Amino acid sequence: MRSLNEWATDGLHPDLTLIFDLPEETGLARARSRNAAAPVDEGRFETEDLRFFRRVREGYLTLAAAEPKRYAVIEAAGTPEEVFEKNTRRSARARAAGAGVNDAAALLAETAKRGELHHAIILHGPAPDALRRAAIQIAKALNCVNKTQGDDCLACQRIERNIHPDVHIVEVGSERKMISVEQIRDLLSSASLRPYEGRNKVYIIDPADALSPADRIRF
Ligand SMILES: [Zn+2]
Repeated sequence: MRSLNEWATDGLHPDLTLIFDLPEETGLARARSRNAAAPVDEGRFETEDLRFFRRVREGYLTLAAAEPKRYAVIEAAGTPEEVFEKNTRRSARARAAGAGVNDAAALLAETAKRGELHHAIILHGPAPDALRRAAIQIAKALNCVNKTQGDDCLACQRIERNIHPDVHIVEVGSERKMISVEQIRDLLSSASLRPYEGRNKVYIIDPADALSPADRIRF
């Protein structure tokens, strides 16, 4: 998707790209109604697969997630007036929340690189996905082989793929609402061991609200 985009924009790098996001079915229906008015292309979209649209959409949303400062996703379902109303309200909030998280994450990653990070940090805010990304960035800063973060070293790659032996994401199992006693018992016994290959062991507990009150105190 990135290289297709490079080709389409002829290597230009706009500061901000707006992505008008629609569910595939709605997008296809709109394209068809435009298509009906233009006889030349008639039927083109009939032969396109919904799956193709889904992949394109996912590609763009992935780009947007990777570079939130350069892409803004606009929820485009509804009338033009509804879209304007919904997104102007939403984007001011999202920009403030997203920028805040990015700044905080950068600061914490710098602190981590200097080895001055507190042993436990709570990331709290309105954008859980951004918070999780921030936690992963900090884990990278703590274990990056090149002592940077988010480069493509082996440690950063493994953290990204969630297979680094010293970086653990503890989350709520699908069938439960809370993080279990067993999960915490495993965490505490493994946390007392030395790191396998990284410099630091990192446990990301997401969300921390899912800890029982007793476990919160134990941390
Ligand atoms: Zn790295």
